[in-house]
Amino acid sequence: MINDAHIWLERLSSLHRSLMRKAANVEGLQLVHIEILQYLSICNRYSNTAQTVSEYLGQTKGSISQSLHFLAEEGLIKRVPCTKDGRVVRLYLTDKSQTALKRIQKTIVPDFSDEEKVINAFKSILSSWQRHEGTKGFGQCQTCRFNENLGPNRFRCNLMDESLKKSETQQICREHEFETV
Ligand code: SF4
Repeated sequence: MINDAHIWLERLSSLHRSLMRKAANVEGLQLVHIEILQYLSICNRYSNTAQTVSEYLGQTKGSISQSLHFLAEEGLIKRVPCTKDGRVVRLYLTDKSQTALKRIQKTIVPDFSDEEKVINAFKSILSSWQRHEGTKGFGQCQTCRFNENLGPNRFRCNLMDESLKKSETQQICREHEFETV
C-alpha cells in the first residue's frame, strides 16, 4: 500500500526529472548526459571515475561508457589519468560543460527563501532512508563521520588520511557514511 512519504518522494523525483529532461532537450543532450555532468559538478576527487558515475546513476558500465564517450567527443568532459594511480582515469568538466551547467541549473534549481530549513529536511530524509536501506555513500562530505574539523577552514578525511579544502567538504563522496545513531 502506498503511503504519504512515497507519494511526496515520487512527486519530487518526477518533477526534478521532468525539469532535467526539458533542460537536456534545450541543450541538445539526453537526460543521462545532464545527469552525468551534474554528478561530476558535485562529486569529490575520490568519486570522479566511470565506475562511480555508473554506481551513482544505477546504470550499467556499458551504457555509461557510451555516454562518457559522447560527452568527451562533444568536448563536455575530459579524461585524465590519476596522478596517484595511472590505471585509474578521472573525469572532469570542461569550460564548455561548466557554462552549460550554469544555464541548466538556473532552470532546474529553485530559489528557496528558507534554504537552510529545506536542506536540513533533505539531509534528514536521505540519512533516514539510507539507514533504513542499509546503503551508504554519495553523501555530502561535511556530514560524513570520517570528516574531522581541525579548526578554521581546516578539515581532514580520516578514511583517506588526507587534508580537505573547505570547498571539498561541500562535495559528495562515494565513501561517505553518516554518523551512526
Ligand atoms: S570525510 Fe567522508 S565524505 Fe569526506 S572525503 Fe572522507 S570519506 Fe569522503
